[in-house]
Amino acid sequence: KYQSLPYSRALEIHKQHLSPVETAFFQKPLMLHQGHMEWLFDSEGNRYLDFFSGIVTVSVGHCHPKVTAVAQKQMDRLWHTSSVFFHPPMHEYAEKLSALLPEPLKVIFLVNSGSEANDLAMVMARAYSNHTDIISFRGAYHGCSPYTLGLTNVGLYKMDLPCGTGCQPTMCPDVFRGPWGGSYCRDSPVQTVRKCSCAPDCCQAKEQYIEQFKETLNTSVAKSIAGFFAEPIQGVNGVVQYPKKFLKEAFALVRERGGVCIADEVQTGFGRLGSHFWGFQTHDVLPDIVTMAKGIGNGFPMAAVVTTPEIAKSLAKCLHHFSTFGGSPLACVVGSAVLEVIKEEDLQKNSQEVGTYMLLKFAELRNEFDIVGDVRGKGLMIGIEMVQDKMSRHPLPKTEVNQIHEDCKDMGLLVGRGGSFSQTFRITPPMCITKPEVDFAFEVFRSALIQHLERRTK
Ligand code: PMP
Repeated sequence: KYQSLPYSRALEIHKQHLSPVETAFFQKPLMLHQGHMEWLFDSEGNRYLDFFSGIVTVSVGHCHPKVTAVAQKQMDRLWHTSSVFFHPPMHEYAEKLSALLPEPLKVIFLVNSGSEANDLAMVMARAYSNHTDIISFRGAYHGCSPYTLGLTNVGLYKMDLPCGTGCQPTMCPDVFRGPWGGSYCRDSPVQTVRKCSCAPDCCQAKEQYIEQFKETLNTSVAKSIAGFFAEPIQGVNGVVQYPKKFLKEAFALVRERGGVCIADEVQTGFGRLGSHFWGFQTHDVLPDIVTMAKGIGNGFPMAAVVTTPEIAKSLAKCLHHFSTFGGSPLACVVGSAVLEVIKEEDLQKNSQEVGTYMLLKFAELRNEFDIVGDVRGKGLMIGIEMVQDKMSRHPLPKTEVNQIHEDCKDMGLLVGRGGSFSQTFRITPPMCITKPEVDFAFEVFRSALIQHLERRTK
């Protein structure tokens, strides 16, 4: 037990001095004290299997020994310089990261958060295209800064204040909750287990969603657009996948109108999806700008925007872009160590193998429980969407989902939440996860569902 700060005191401090906006999970939020790889420990000494990674951020494991050692060594040498000076960690990192991206995505801007990366990508798209309007999906999450809030379309985060002007939402080609389903359709209450493909294979639905996309392009003020942002799989919206080839066609339509295409890899990058290092590769597209954060630093605050030399040059005409902490020596050595660990420990392959194993295992729950509407995802990014029943697909009420969530925690498993109704469980563990741990998580989750149904019938 760690008694440095009693829980009751933490609660008082929280109420008095920390943001009143409700973000904490659970009726009695956990007070975490320590982490080791895929495990977390609270201040009472209880152990939890971390299947959310601090919102898809701890990519290679909490306090990974190599990453920690590298950071500690750099702390004794040089913390900070600002990018007005050269320093080896920044140059070495830029070379390593750019080697992981295809031509011509070779110019890197180092920043501090996903929102800041997307802010910068918005500026780049506008500076390069000389257009203003930017399109993003409904349900998209691209950040919380006033600029990116224009792109973010998850209701919970939409402020009733002027934010991010010139942004245009378009229908999300969500094959589960959207109006069209294709082979993955509404008529069948028990769906076949979907193999770990890049995205659902429902061509018919894709055509309909593309027509909607064209309508946004043709009828809105966005006739000549600056850019189109997309997450390869939507994270905050509850691991939402698009029909196969949708992004490929959408990218072509955007480019026809002079816009650039931006892949937001904040959640999907760095091997999490298993089959590919970047999410955009699973859609067989080449973006003009790629933004990344979260897993890039395994929890250290850092982020990056990668683009082509041509787009990067266009930025110079409108501003002297600068970030005090972006590309700090400390961030860069951490970033380099994360890349090395992903390679040395073959974590992308682990995401593929263990992720596919997990998807197929959790998909069994869809056949067993009427309240499990969908199990989807790719690699170690999996969503379990809870419904009242399979036929209606109405979201399971939040209070019920909260209880299942709470029960999982009490049995030692931490999972995430997402979706407009908070109805989807998100499973995004550190990439070092093992199959026996997946088996444990499966048993816990299944027990929580059984417990829930028993409670209902009482
Ligand atoms: N893009 C995506 C896809 C995200 O999930 C998030 C964070 N949830 C962001 C951008 C914003 O990142 P940050 O919180 O670091 O600003």
